[in-house]
Amino acid sequence: MYYRPYLRTCIDYPSFMKVFRYKTLLLLPILAVSALIILAGSTLYQISTVDQNSLKKLGSSFDLAQRNFSILADLIYKNYFHDRPDILALIYKANKAPSEEKALIRQTIIDRLDEHYRLIRHLGVKQFHIHLADGSSFIRFHRLEKWGDSLIGVRKTIEVVMHTHRTVRGFEEGRIFSGFRNVYPLGFKGQYIGSVEISAGLQAIAAMMHNNTEHIKTEFILSKNLPKRKVFKDELKQHYSPVPYAKGFVVDESPYESGIFIGKRESLEDDVDLVKALSRHDLTKTLLKFKPFYKYLWINGQLFHFFFIPFREFEGSWAGYLVVAKRANLAERMLKMFFYQAMVTLFIFFLLGAWLFNQEKRLLFHSSRDALTGAFNRRNGIKELERTIALANRTGARNTIIFFDIDDFKAINDTFGHKMGDRVLQALVEFLKSTLRRTDVIVRYGGEEFIVLLPNTKREDAIKVAEKVRKGIEKLEIEGVLRLTVSIGVAEYRSGEQITEWIGRADKAMYESKYSGKNRVTVAS
Ligand code: GH3
Ligand code: MG
Ligand code: MG
Repeated sequence: MYYRPYLRTCIDYPSFMKVFRYKTLLLLPILAVSALIILAGSTLYQISTVDQNSLKKLGSSFDLAQRNFSILADLIYKNYFHDRPDILALIYKANKAPSEEKALIRQTIIDRLDEHYRLIRHLGVKQFHIHLADGSSFIRFHRLEKWGDSLIGVRKTIEVVMHTHRTVRGFEEGRIFSGFRNVYPLGFKGQYIGSVEISAGLQAIAAMMHNNTEHIKTEFILSKNLPKRKVFKDELKQHYSPVPYAKGFVVDESPYESGIFIGKRESLEDDVDLVKALSRHDLTKTLLKFKPFYKYLWINGQLFHFFFIPFREFEGSWAGYLVVAKRANLAERMLKMFFYQAMVTLFIFFLLGAWLFNQEKRLLFHSSRDALTGAFNRRNGIKELERTIALANRTGARNTIIFFDIDDFKAINDTFGHKMGDRVLQALVEFLKSTLRRTDVIVRYGGEEFIVLLPNTKREDAIKVAEKVRKGIEKLEIEGVLRLTVSIGVAEYRSGEQITEWIGRADKAMYESKYSGKNRVTVAS
């Protein structure tokens, strides 16, 4: 069965019925939203798992890079000091020598080791510093002009070595640069003669952490107090600048040397956009917690994450953070994937909704129709009458029904069979549809009894319609042979009367037609 345009699909159900009918439809958006929430939750969970892992990995490769550098430093120490009695003898002498001779000894050591310093700088060494037994600076290969100053009270690592005669390792701020230190005790003739420091700059350690294929930018930020307390005033301004996204921290901008491990300098500073994006945030509070964390930022339509890995000074107090900025490719892909999945989910729910809605509509249609002929059934036909009258009470429109009953239908059934009888009923309704207006309502009131409601039609006009129907049916040839007549009663609605009264008058008029010979139209009084 298909929908005929003149048959109204919209039936006025009581509101509770409507709610009941559309409950399934209301359920759909709730289900869709739940599905999206679950999907979003699992995406975020996956992304955060990946990032927690990255954070851990970065932390351990940071440790590993420091340990690897220590191995390198051990080798350098063994080669240039432990196995070099000539150098040790010179340092031994320098400890006791008057200043002029001390300067000469110093120059001799510089001449012997300076070339080597240039080599080991290529391996990532930044500070190469010999101290005497009293804790004074003897040779800074990285700042040859600065020497003789006491490091007591400034360089805790050196003091610890002085007292324990043991190697000390760890991060420490210095007078010029900060660095990951390895300080070795020096001995000669059974005496402590001083120490040597072989340290890596921060960027060298960072460079050792990453391979060249990763597009990574690294930066070290330090608690402001560290350099403020220790660094020579003229060096302070050169190598440290305030962090734009956190108070109380400075960026370590000490020169970045090129070498085997260290490629082109790639720091956050090189990429203005990254720093700018970070500068819009104030991370002071989070940074002061000194816990590893990460942060996402959209920059120029690309997703970046910033990893913050805290590290301590060798004594144990917090020094600052290693900051690593990376394109968040995986997270970006996962978010895109989520977007597609969400679209597909919504689309599926939309299709499901459309299908269910259609089913509901069909159900509504069929529950209001007579299955055999497609005309309104009695229950909904009466509702249509009520609705029309309710409207007429406001507009003053006149409405008329024509009530008709097939003449001698029993005989048709008896002669041609029940099936044929059914087909006659269908043919009759088809004829009515083709003859009547789209706004007219056809109701199968009983077995072979029909009511046609002619909205906005007065008695005189309805009589004409009834005559037209009667004559049309009379001429109708069903299946080529069968002829048919109907008896008709016409009744215009009387203001104030019940629907049943109205139908009753039409029915009575129809019976009058029957009594007076059938196949005619009678108008109700
Ligand atoms: P009258 O001219 O006095 O109306 O005679 P009639 O035979 O039409 O009247 P009656 O009320 O005695 O019989 C109506 C018959 O209509 C009885 C029933 O078998 C038949 N009928 C009712 N509904 C259907 C139907 O859905 N299909 C078929 N085939 N017959 C039906
Ligand atoms: Mg009949
Ligand atoms: Mg009858």
